[in-house]
Amino acid sequence: MPLDVLRRILDPLRTGIVTSRYPAEPALLAPAARRLPVVDAARCDGDASCVGVCPTGAITLNEGVWTVDAGRCVLCDACVDACPAGAVGRLGSPAPAYRPAGAADPASAAAERLRVAVAAKLGRSLHVRHLDAGSCNGCDWEIAALLNPYHDVQRLGIDFVASPRHADLLLVTGIMSRNLREAALRTYDSMAEPRLVVAVGACAISGGVFAGSPEGDDGIAGTLPVDVLVPGCPPRPESIVEGLLLAVGRRPAAS
Ligand code: SF4
Repeated sequence: MPLDVLRRILDPLRTGIVTSRYPAEPALLAPAARRLPVVDAARCDGDASCVGVCPTGAITLNEGVWTVDAGRCVLCDACVDACPAGAVGRLGSPAPAYRPAGAADPASAAAERLRVAVAAKLGRSLHVRHLDAGSCNGCDWEIAALLNPYHDVQRLGIDFVASPRHADLLLVTGIMSRNLREAALRTYDSMAEPRLVVAVGACAISGGVFAGSPEGDDGIAGTLPVDVLVPGCPPRPESIVEGLLLAVGRRPAAS
């Protein structure tokens, strides 16, 4: 049995504390936990089988440069299995949350002013309204896990509320289906300023395996202004925690 898994079992027995120490300490992932793929270009023989098997077009090879689009990847491992050279491996940590392309440079003076203003308004407390905009419920189960004794986000000053009028942040899952677009806009319009939006999961970022469906949009960005993206299908609870902390400036963006 790997040492980290053994520690996960023995620590609660020794200390009486079951709660994760994440993000103060790295997340403990079981060996079988699904993660983002990473390409070791030095081992790659140019076969590119991985590109052909990817169901969402997340992995690409352009002029010798491999790219894995975290917002499209559904963590299916097909690329890992398909690579004859064993050049496609898996990230050692949960997929990091990130800001949308084109968002203000977090280091810029304007972004820093916004971060300070948001922190002044929200302090270290964060009230979250969860909105399902057409998901399969995989991401929603991971969000529900944030409140269990292991992840326990209330220890970080984060709590979920029933009304958007009480919320600082809208946590959205799903592709933004046609029938939920108006409900999403009305929910967002009900929130007081400053308000933040976090897209959770491949569907909310890019449409995931439903991209191109006439029944919805390819993600929520066409309907709501997104501040932070949390990749995964579904994302691990640790990635969602990181996304929430990143949105309110309590974590730096991953480089
Ligand atoms: S894990 Fe699946 S979805 Fe992600 S890049 Fe590989 S093949 Fe594509």
